[in-house]
Amino acid sequence: MARGARRSAWTAAACASVVLALCAWARGTLDAPWIAASVAALALGGVVGGLFRTRIRAAPEASAHARHSVAEALLANIPDPVILVDRRAVVIEVNPAARALLPALKLRHPLSFALRAPDVLDGIEEVLRTGAPLKTLYATRVPTERAFEVQIGALPMPDGPAGGQPNVVLFLRDLTSARRLEAMRVDFVANASHELRTPLASLLGFIETLQGPARNDAPARERFLAIMKTQAHRMTRLIDDLLSLSRIELREHVPPTKPVDLARIAREMVETQSPLARERGVEVTFEADGVHPMPGERDELLRVVENLVENAVKYGGRGGRVAVSVARLVELPPRRARIVLAVRDEGPGIAPEHIPRLTERFYRVDVASSRDQGGTGLGLAIVKHIVNRHRGRLVIESAPGAGTTVRVSFPEFVMEPGNAAETAGR
Ligand code: ADP
Repeated sequence: MARGARRSAWTAAACASVVLALCAWARGTLDAPWIAASVAALALGGVVGGLFRTRIRAAPEASAHARHSVAEALLANIPDPVILVDRRAVVIEVNPAARALLPALKLRHPLSFALRAPDVLDGIEEVLRTGAPLKTLYATRVPTERAFEVQIGALPMPDGPAGGQPNVVLFLRDLTSARRLEAMRVDFVANASHELRTPLASLLGFIETLQGPARNDAPARERFLAIMKTQAHRMTRLIDDLLSLSRIELREHVPPTKPVDLARIAREMVETQSPLARERGVEVTFEADGVHPMPGERDELLRVVENLVENAVKYGGRGGRVAVSVARLVELPPRRARIVLAVRDEGPGIAPEHIPRLTERFYRVDVASSRDQGGTGLGLAIVKHIVNRHRGRLVIESAPGAGTTVRVSFPEFVMEPGNAAETAGR
């Protein structure tokens, strides 16, 4: 079309000058002005043709430029690393995610300078040879262990400078968190089975003893039955905790919206637990400075208070005191009020290396002591998930010999126009 338009302009100009010359010849006036007019027409034709040429040549350049910026913007917004190399595995283009992962990546430098992964480099060769895409793995150890799935594919470049030779594009997908989750799942199943198998093995042992050697030994039977009851209770508690954990996890992404009074919930739980604590020689006190509404699920918050008070009583030691309080705290900034529940004990405290791991499932500082106290190792994991669901924060402050304070804080309930009616109806 570009050439056609240019040709038509030239043809029109030539025809115009021929017509003018013919007219002049027919009139017998082929003189200087006529010759000038013919030349001007030719020149005009040239200019118009030139303009068309420029316009039509500029159009693909502009659209190629636009396409290039769109491609760049697209690349920049892909969160996973993307690298484009030519058929000699020299880097042509990379996106910011690739630069962040491989700071040594440089344009026009061989990819192998930055990515020392024989599987990936072999993969590029194979893709160029066969034309079929393939997937391989790339793992880093420094600064942290990470694993990526690398998808390698040929990118046909029909208009490219290398005469239609394809480039190769590499997409890296981070598998690190998926692998970590998988490892956690495997660990969790192994831990849960182990926790269940221990009391189960003890139950089976006692059943066999009662059927065999202790068949007619009444005092031994009484003793064994009491132990069997404790073990069966332990299994029930474990199953209950596992079920609550999975129920809470299922709802973790849906925060509660209705207001509940945390002070009232905490007082209720302290009253329920006080007789048990007294039996263990522990005094539990409660303090709250008024009503403290927060968006919450009553049953879940009761579990939070129950687990924290139970731990403080269990690990705080006989003759100790446990102080439970609920207060309103205004943060500066952003001047938003939070409702804070604190449970403090005067026990032996926890060494700092354990503190970050206490909310992991089945993590205990002292496994035997936790089991003796009827612990499942899931209490703080449950607390953490409930706190997450309530968009709260959990902080454990402790030092050996200095007791432990566990603080959970939640955003205060704020009356929105949308939930005013709902609240009024409660
Ligand atoms: P458990 O069922 O074993 O109590 P948790 O998840 O509630 O499980 O607690 C995990 C571990 O944290 C406990 O086994 C214990 O070692 C430690 N722990 C929790 N609370 C306290 C506390 N108040 N004082 C000392 N250690 C504590």
